[in-house]
Amino acid sequence: MTDQMLTPAPPEPAPDCKICARLDELRALADAAGDKSGVADCNVLLRRHPGHKKLPPP
Ligand SMILES: [Zn+2]
Repeated sequence: MTDQMLTPAPPEPAPDCKICARLDELRALADAAGDKSGVADCNVLLRRHPGHKKLPPP
């Protein structure tokens, strides 16, 4: 079994969300730096970021 099998798919940043875009950026930087806990932190924040999929219809 590999680490990848144990890791759930990373969350996608919500479109048009600047905070998610920033978290996605930070996640990429952490990933590039080999900072796995930094990547995990960003993933948690992306998952928990409020408002996603709950936006009222226009
Ligand atoms: Zn967001």
